[in-house]
Amino acid sequence: MNLKAVAFDIDGTLYPNWKMYLRSFPFALKNYRLIKAFSRVRKQLRTIDPIHDFQKLQAGLLSEAMDISYDEAYTRIHTILYRDWEKVLARVPLYPGALECIEDIRKRGLKTAVASDFPVERKLGILGIEGLWDYELSTEDTNYLKPHKKPFEAIIQSLGVPAEEILYVGNSYAYDVLGARAVGMKTAHITTKSVPNTMADFTFSHYKQLHTYLFR
Ligand SMILES: [Mg+2]
Repeated sequence: MNLKAVAFDIDGTLYPNWKMYLRSFPFALKNYRLIKAFSRVRKQLRTIDPIHDFQKLQAGLLSEAMDISYDEAYTRIHTILYRDWEKVLARVPLYPGALECIEDIRKRGLKTAVASDFPVERKLGILGIEGLWDYELSTEDTNYLKPHKKPFEAIIQSLGVPAEEILYVGNSYAYDVLGARAVGMKTAHITTKSVPNTMADFTFSHYKQLHTYLFR
């Protein structure tokens, strides 16, 4: 395999989503209406192209959906949904072997990137995986969420590595695997339920398997 870089999704890829859901249960109960409206807005955002100012559009759509002012919507997104929700992750452990795998990838001279549909900067610190990346991307900063091509193209450009020499690792088949594949990256799908006739180059459920796939 001629890989020069490995890029990772965060949520559900570097740590198990169910542990986060379990920890965020009280948070979700308290903010039920907001989370429901926000998830509808995020779905809607994935269908809009072109987007000129992602944050403005997102807050505008949420303000309509919840019948609150634009400023209130913007504040709720950035304080409750981004900042407070991240704190839930403080005691969520990474998948076994994930950190070692990332460290080995770097030791062997490959580049690393991380990309999330949510803000990444604080999250990496909360999860204890800061300083391990050649490129960190909040897809929102490109104005588009996955599986749009823009975030994946940003990874290719920032790493300075041809698409076919990047392995993209993610847990969402529709967003991560198909999105990365559409720009020509290799893909690894972390899941316990393999997709029939999968387009992913590699499917795994434990980081040991990914390690073997990369370095055998
Ligand atoms: Mg994910």
